[in-house]
Amino acid sequence: MFNKSRIEQFKHLPTPFYYYDMELLKETLDLIHTESSKYGYHVHYAVKANANPKIMKLVQSYGFGADCVSGNEVTRSLETGFSADKIVYAGVGKSDREILTALEAGIFCFNCESIPEIELINELAEQTNKTARIAIRINPNVDANTHHYITTGIEENKFGINRWEFDSVLETLEKSKNIKLEGLHFHIGSQITDTEVFKGLCIRVNEIQQWFNDRQIFVDHLNVGGGFGIDYDQPDVNPISDFVTYFGIFNQFLDLKPNQQLHFELGRSVVAQCGSLISKVLYIKNGAKTKFAILDAGMTELLRPALYQAYHKIENITSVETEEVYDVVGPICESSDSFGKAVSLPATKRNDLIALRSAGAYGETMASRYNLRDIAESIFSDELK
Ligand SMILES: *Cc1c(COP(=O)(O)O)cnc(C)c1O
Repeated sequence: MFNKSRIEQFKHLPTPFYYYDMELLKETLDLIHTESSKYGYHVHYAVKANANPKIMKLVQSYGFGADCVSGNEVTRSLETGFSADKIVYAGVGKSDREILTALEAGIFCFNCESIPEIELINELAEQTNKTARIAIRINPNVDANTHHYITTGIEENKFGINRWEFDSVLETLEKSKNIKLEGLHFHIGSQITDTEVFKGLCIRVNEIQQWFNDRQIFVDHLNVGGGFGIDYDQPDVNPISDFVTYFGIFNQFLDLKPNQQLHFELGRSVVAQCGSLISKVLYIKNGAKTKFAILDAGMTELLRPALYQAYHKIENITSVETEEVYDVVGPICESSDSFGKAVSLPATKRNDLIALRSAGAYGETMASRYNLRDIAESIFSDELK
């Protein structure tokens, strides 16, 4: 991933920083574009994965839309060139102000997660003389077989509208004159690597769409969300996820009506592999049982390990010594501020550079200033000579 001259450049930069391989990002976007275009599918980029303006502008240049989960993400998407008619907006807790922002912009679609939300959007649309296009986000009760913190499509989750509420939703829509139902939306979770799960989703979506059709309700589009996983174990072997298979599954198993559009919302699989968090070793400390490699980056730069025991490959990119075992930790005053236990690394010393791989998604966007830490810089491969 990093050649010698790149590592030399890294040595002169203040750490920690996020590094983005823009060539890999372009290759990934090229493949997504080619494979989704084959079937005329519409791809929205899930902004919460990485909201860096430079990255968003590049994604936007491929003609993709944006998938937002806050009013500020809608604003950022507009600022980075996404056209309003390609913006979708989900989230269980949209505030009045956020809804007004999106109404004002004239976004493509609100993905609505509850009856009270539909009622509020209708009320605000009426006040501003607008008609809001909505999709109902349905909880299809499909288990994504992923970490429970990133599972969103089973009944115990807070997301989406459950099946037993469909009749009440239809009654609410009947009364909501400033709302137009245009789609059915689903998003069952993240980091899904088992493609059988998407096949299961297709079958469930077909059944649910039939339920609506039986009641003479037909929608212009289906939106099957995102959630396609990446290879955290071997980022250099599989730098780009298998989008050929991914889009092919929907083509094979999902029943689209004539002229019905299919939309996707991909986040992690677009940006995760192009990013690494580059950090310096501050100290090697002998613990009671283990040696700690203490980095200058921690959970404030990459929260996923502390938040949901996520694995990121850890590489010492400046040492070629024989391997030893370390607990690799950050400097933050929390015991969960750890990137990996019993990690084999080439013998590591103060000032070595450590790369935490596959950090392009849910890295920078989850950064915090806890402990009053500085926010890390972003460095792009195409800006290093
Ligand atoms: C987070 C999110 C996505 C993107 O998920 P990835 O796993 O990053 O692809 C898509 N849709 C919605 C509604 C989301 O909340």
